[in-house]
Amino acid sequence: MSATIIDGKSLARRIRDRVAAEVEAMVAAGADPPGLGVLLVGDDPASAIYVRNKTAASGEAGFFSQQVNLPSDAGKAAILEVVESYNRDPRIHGILVQLPLPDDVDELAVIRAIDAGKDVDGMHPENVALLAVGEPRVLPCTPAGIMEILRDHDVAVEGQEAVVVGRSNIVGRPVSRLLELANATVTTAHSRTRDLGAVARRADILVVAVGRVGLITGDMVKPGATVIDVGMNRLPPVEPGGTGRLVGDIDRASVEPVAGKLTPVPGGVGPLTIAMLLKNTLQAARASLQEGAPAATR
Ligand code: NAP
Repeated sequence: MSATIIDGKSLARRIRDRVAAEVEAMVAAGADPPGLGVLLVGDDPASAIYVRNKTAASGEAGFFSQQVNLPSDAGKAAILEVVESYNRDPRIHGILVQLPLPDDVDELAVIRAIDAGKDVDGMHPENVALLAVGEPRVLPCTPAGIMEILRDHDVAVEGQEAVVVGRSNIVGRPVSRLLELANATVTTAHSRTRDLGAVARRADILVVAVGRVGLITGDMVKPGATVIDVGMNRLPPVEPGGTGRLVGDIDRASVEPVAGKLTPVPGGVGPLTIAMLLKNTLQAARASLQEGAPAATR
């Protein structure tokens, strides 16, 4: 038996089409379109590609979008000034500060400066706390996308053993919490976990968000498990000047014959991250419409 390969692209397409249809209806009813404010600091080529893809997707969905690029030595004050201007701008409902920021910039201070209602990445401490207490307002995009994949593929979560490898604030930790809220029994593994293979093999649902090529091999996977590969690793280019192939954290050749379902890289989780950003921005725009409406109509 070979795993069913999950088509993240087509699920993301369906979500993006739904968002675009809702934006069209919103604008037809006289409201402003959702607005996304993007800030890119420095010249990291991967970040530039992510931002380009996100901006293109928001344009395609009918959003208003604005982007500011700052040089890597811009400094905290200049970064905060852009964030503040997006906070004040009524056309902007969602703010995307592309991470990572340069090493000398206090990332948390920048995230804290974002209006929590415009935090469409779900990274602001207020939104993190709401998720922690089980009352989420906005879900971080990649974890939300993973839950969409599980729902769309009728993967049972309640009562299942879920193992999440990785505990970052952006992926591992929030996806562990979401799986727990969906009543899975969750284990979070990390770089200090003893015998990762034994822990991973317990999983009915195995989510891997580490950033290491080939970390998970077939012998670490329970037969029939659903395996979600979040890793995005660029291999060295074959030819000088070329772009290396994008691969995940799963050794696909050995895992595919064992797993029940598997997300590929590329084309698995990545497209969902962008779709969820659009969904979160639309949700933030709707919330601001409600706030602006006369009390009687709320
Ligand atoms: P991160 O902040 O670097 O966190 C990596 C996590 O992996 C840490 O918790 C670390 O443990 C753990 N780890 C490192 N080596 C390990 C090992 N040998 N065994 C077990 N755990 C180990 O990374 P991230 O931001 O979460 O991203 C993870 C990967 O997902 C990257 O490849 C990134 O590019 C990708 N990603 C993809 C998307 C998407 O849309 N598809 C979105 C975001 C990220 P410690 O905590 O102990 O250090």
